[in-house]
Amino acid sequence: MIRLTEIRLPLDHPPEALVADIVRRLDIAQDDLLAHTVFRRGYDARRRGAIMLVYTVDCTVRDEDAVLARLAGTPHVGPAPDTDYHFVMRDGAAFADRPGYRRPVVIGAGPCGLLAGLLLAQMGLRPLILERGKVVRERTVDTFALWRKSVLTPESNVQFGEGGAGTFSDGKLYSQVSDPRHYGRKVLHEFVKAGAPEEILYLSKPHIGTFRLVSMVEHIRAEIEALGGSYRFDTRVEDIVLATDADGMRRVAGLRLADGEEIAADHVVLAVGHSARDTFTMLHAHGVAMEAKPFSIGVRIEHPQSVIDAARFGPQAGNPLLGAADYRLVHHATNGRAVYSFCMCPGGTVVAATSEEGRVVTNGMSQYSRAERNANAGIVVGVTPEADYPGGPLAGIAFQRHWERQAFLAGGGDYRAPAQRVGDFLAGRPSTHLGAVEPSYRPGVTPTDLSACLPDFVVLAMREALAAFGRELNGFDMADAVLTGVETRTSSPLRIPRGPDGQCTNVAGLYPAGEGAGYAGGILSAAIDGIRVAEAVALTMAGRPVDG
Ligand code: FAD
Repeated sequence: MIRLTEIRLPLDHPPEALVADIVRRLDIAQDDLLAHTVFRRGYDARRRGAIMLVYTVDCTVRDEDAVLARLAGTPHVGPAPDTDYHFVMRDGAAFADRPGYRRPVVIGAGPCGLLAGLLLAQMGLRPLILERGKVVRERTVDTFALWRKSVLTPESNVQFGEGGAGTFSDGKLYSQVSDPRHYGRKVLHEFVKAGAPEEILYLSKPHIGTFRLVSMVEHIRAEIEALGGSYRFDTRVEDIVLATDADGMRRVAGLRLADGEEIAADHVVLAVGHSARDTFTMLHAHGVAMEAKPFSIGVRIEHPQSVIDAARFGPQAGNPLLGAADYRLVHHATNGRAVYSFCMCPGGTVVAATSEEGRVVTNGMSQYSRAERNANAGIVVGVTPEADYPGGPLAGIAFQRHWERQAFLAGGGDYRAPAQRVGDFLAGRPSTHLGAVEPSYRPGVTPTDLSACLPDFVVLAMREALAAFGRELNGFDMADAVLTGVETRTSSPLRIPRGPDGQCTNVAGLYPAGEGAGYAGGILSAAIDGIRVAEAVALTMAGRPVDG
């Protein structure tokens, strides 16, 4: 197969223009093009009014070797890489059938834990998945209770429960992680098998929306169980049981659950996400290697989607091939801080995303249609250990908690969030009312002064950035745009280092993985890391080398 990249065609091109461009680029007769599939389709909207579609296409042609030889060295033409997934093990049942077999245990049923569990099940290793929250449908009821009635269930919410943090989300599925083995492709294929739209396989910025994510998570569960894996919900891992090898190395021997039950385990994937603060505290108390890492904090901003569409797409706003416009903005502020847009949700809503009582946290989600009135995104500022939160690996959690608490108090102490008009924020005065942009956050917002809920350097950097973003994207700094705070759970505040064999550097058998352990930031990268770690577990169980 031959891959052609950078095929650029106008937004309104007729279907035959793509084939015409392929045969022209390959310099072959049309009859010699036997088949073609679009591997990726994106768009280039840098020139408003002249937006181009950009294709990557895989082609089957007559006498492929000769065509490739003739075009050797030509930019954007080459053999298509093998993006199929190749299992490192298929005969796990041979281990699993042995007497005394101890199944690998996965803690957490978020994207990382689910893909780790799925891969282990597909390899025949019959994993056990432990999830502190509830099955996804019950979890949905609890999550809505916070949004509609201000009732938080600390073990079942936007962060905790089947599907993990990404379930009530926009379901954006792109990532910038290096993926030389094309694990991302495997994830996308598994998602399609579970019910995601086929287009996620070729759109450059695919998304699923929250509604489908719920049933996809159920499909993945059904497959894992059909392959001999099993789940336990409402099952919080509260402690790890450690043993010491003859050479002095500590290793996992088991897990203690919240109800006191102990489960023997030699291979434990730790895919607990960034909000498992109690779990991190427990691991730290055991001396598990851990270091503070940078993350970002800030607020969510909301504009009418129509303002963003017009700013990005100009006269081509509303074209169904483009959908609701997104944006990605970065500003380096004069106080040395990087300010950037985070987890942008076109046509979506801002959601209450706390997992702890007495705190307010924002995030964003949308349906597949992205048809809600407002666009929202985090506008966040980088913070770093020691300079901003000195005191060791858990200091970032204390920092997050402090600002989440301030937001809770500023919102009125009943899970409403503090909010401010951009005009007021820029002028440094509290908002007493909101304007034309109606905030979507539920259970509601309290107009106030957000500077009480954020460090001064964050406020300063954001003020400067909003003005700069307004110059880049017309209307971005409109006075009635709404800021809702605070956005603190942008990524994990710590990292649990692991070796090339995927295991924790000072506890064998513990495989830190996904966002919580500092190896991912988003659904796709967390799922990719789940595959990586599942392979490490399988190879280690088989006594084969793990090449990292
Ligand atoms: P998580 O998804 O956090 O899963 C961890 C799981 O572990 C949880 O289910 C938790 O209950 C469980 N757990 C924790 N501790 C224990 C314990 N002690 N015992 C048992 N179980 C435990 N990313 C994107 O790429 N695109 C988006 O559009 C997007 N939108 C988002 C919208 C929202 C509202 C939120 C909150 C996040 C969004 N994200 C998005 C981020 C994305 O969800 C995360 O990056 C991703 O879910 C991380 O996956 P994970 O498996 O590492 O951890």
